[in-house]
Amino acid sequence: MRTSLLLFVPLFFFSVITIPALTHNPWNISTSSAFGYLPDSSTGFNDKIDTAFISAVLAYQKFFHLNSTGILDHTTVGQMVIPRCGVPDFFPHHRNTTTLHGRDLYSFFDGKPTWPKHKRNLKYYFTSYSTKIRPQTLRKIFARSFSRWERVTLLSFQKVHHPSKADIFLRFYSGNHGDNSPFDGRFGVLAHAFAPTIGELHFDADEIWAVSMSMLRNTPNSIDLESVTTHELGHILGLGHSTFRSAIMYPSISSQRRKINLRQDDIHGIQELYGVKK
Ligand SMILES: [Zn+2]
Ligand SMILES: [Zn+2]
Repeated sequence: MRTSLLLFVPLFFFSVITIPALTHNPWNISTSSAFGYLPDSSTGFNDKIDTAFISAVLAYQKFFHLNSTGILDHTTVGQMVIPRCGVPDFFPHHRNTTTLHGRDLYSFFDGKPTWPKHKRNLKYYFTSYSTKIRPQTLRKIFARSFSRWERVTLLSFQKVHHPSKADIFLRFYSGNHGDNSPFDGRFGVLAHAFAPTIGELHFDADEIWAVSMSMLRNTPNSIDLESVTTHELGHILGLGHSTFRSAIMYPSISSQRRKINLRQDDIHGIQELYGVKK
């Protein structure tokens, strides 16, 4: 009874949060892997699943600074249901790495991809298609989010009016939208973005996106668009997830929570990729 329960619970939760297999491998991960915690989606219902899940749960607990019990206890499940970014927490070559940057906890995509040196002024384009948010509201939120990264690096960002001139695209989608990482409705995965130089940032159009402090405060279950945008732009520029809870690049954010300021962890990470603004 105990064994079957232990099998059922992890399967249930990982089925809720699993990223479907990616055919064109945009994040440099080899298979579907539940945010990088499961080595292979083809594990299926067999004996290996116990070991794979225990190891996945242990890695998850380590990443989120939870007690290493190896089982989906109350605290672990409580962390798993917090809305989050769809980008994996680990890539194949980083699975077992601990801190590599002194006291900092930031990470990069596999191979440390960046925008090339001749692309220090990056142009972005967004469309309000499939969201009810007004374009002028999006314009302000996106401009503020870009400016936080601009302030600490040698990069600059410029909005353009035609997609043919853009390096970075910000779009809202519901469900399946053609990149083999369908969105999942309200909560779960809020957004995802691709490593340089793909330049695609996708928001789940089914979230209740808060576009002001008052809306965030007064709307139950709302998600702060500016916080999520600032986080996803970190991926667009080449940062992975950080295990530092206060970092912008930490993977999860609760509803009605605002977190928009870069921390030293984020700043050191991005400056390692693009240099320091003097
Ligand atoms: Zn993320
Ligand atoms: Zn997408």
